Amino acid sequence: MKPVGVTPPAVCWHCGQGVDFQTGTLAARYLYRGERPSTVLVEDWMQCACGAYQNVRRLNEISVEPLGSAAGA
Ligand SMILES: [Zn+2]
Repeated sequence: MKPVGVTPPAVCWHCGQGVDFQTGTLAARYLYRGERPSTVLVEDWMQCACGAYQNVRRLNEISVEPLGSAAGA
């Protein structure tokens, strides 16, 4: 999966700090069907430094690569 477009910055609902979904603590991840068959909505729940949990949703595109292709060798 790779992200589609730019993800708007997420802000903690409790303390207002920015929540970084790349370096923060991932508590849970949910996947939802996207608008197109090749897209999926990834929802990550991150723990903020203040202890609250904030969700961050990102649209991802699924790409299927053939098994044994030279790309991974
Ligand atoms: Zn917070």
